[in-house]
Amino acid sequence: MEIRRRILEEQHYCHQCNCDTQVELREELQKDTIKGITINTLVNVPFCANCGSEIYIAKINDDNLDKINYNYRIVTGRILVSEIEQLLEMYNIGAKPLSLLLGWGECTIPRYLTGQMPNVENSEKLKSIIRNPYVFNELFNKNKHKLTNIAQKKVEGALANYDVSTLNEANEIAENSLIQFYSKNPNIYNGMKTFEIKKLINSILYFANLCREVYITKMNKLLWYSDMLCFKRSSFSITGLQYQRINYGPVPLKYYWIYGSLSETYFNLEITESGTKIQTFREFDESIFSKEELQALFDVGQKFKNWYAGELSGYSHNERAYIETNHRELISFNYAKELSLN
Ligand SMILES: [Zn+2]
Repeated sequence: MEIRRRILEEQHYCHQCNCDTQVELREELQKDTIKGITINTLVNVPFCANCGSEIYIAKINDDNLDKINYNYRIVTGRILVSEIEQLLEMYNIGAKPLSLLLGWGECTIPRYLTGQMPNVENSEKLKSIIRNPYVFNELFNKNKHKLTNIAQKKVEGALANYDVSTLNEANEIAENSLIQFYSKNPNIYNGMKTFEIKKLINSILYFANLCREVYITKMNKLLWYSDMLCFKRSSFSITGLQYQRINYGPVPLKYYWIYGSLSETYFNLEITESGTKIQTFREFDESIFSKEELQALFDVGQKFKNWYAGELSGYSHNERAYIETNHRELISFNYAKELSLN
């Protein structure tokens, strides 16, 4: 892999040179083994541009730890900090009150928010209350006496937005919240297309049926390539999803939420040491797609079906859309014209 280097704007102190010098950042693939699971992370390592020795810069070190932590959570299927934040917003509740509702120590969730890794059990519990307002409501009714009156009022206000009557409707609610989140007017970041959840679900089913087993990291790329390719050919994407640039390549914005919301109904997620695997038991419905859309799904599927997630990730790093978009920013469909697929 090509090593990316860049010079930092500001100077830093080098012990060898005993003065402030220019700093070169080099991207390196770092292997970490956490609880028996090996995580590969692209980290930035600072070197003195003058003498070449490695330099310690606290901010960069912290950023690297955040990346490793993020990757570990993705690989092991643990809930992400951003998902916990989403959960607090969803029910208008603070980190401490939520800990109390769950019967945990008051500082448990505040600690998760600052980077401590939740155990699998707690992670699954948190995920289930994101997916099912019904489950949260049950918990709230049981333990609300632990909250202040003000905190209770806030949660009740938030719960009024959800149908909490039955568990069976939970999935419909999850799908509706996806629709609400992704539905933006057609613009260059959603491929000039209003979000269509049925097309998203069936694109996932198409690729999950085609590849015998497919990890989320690969599925993210397959969705991006098929949306970009369809846009290149027809000026419209398929799903209307927005995509973000992260270290792994292009991914649908809040993709963990998509898979979490749709799993169990349309496919199963299996957490393995190499990542989260999607397995489906449903047929894909081709009747909802246009001819161009089907062709884009088909062409992307044929090209990449036997590729490993890592290969596809590396391949996507050479797309202009990836190179020219800043970390964590939305990827414009304007780059579709330069996509490597035709
Ligand atoms: Zn130096």
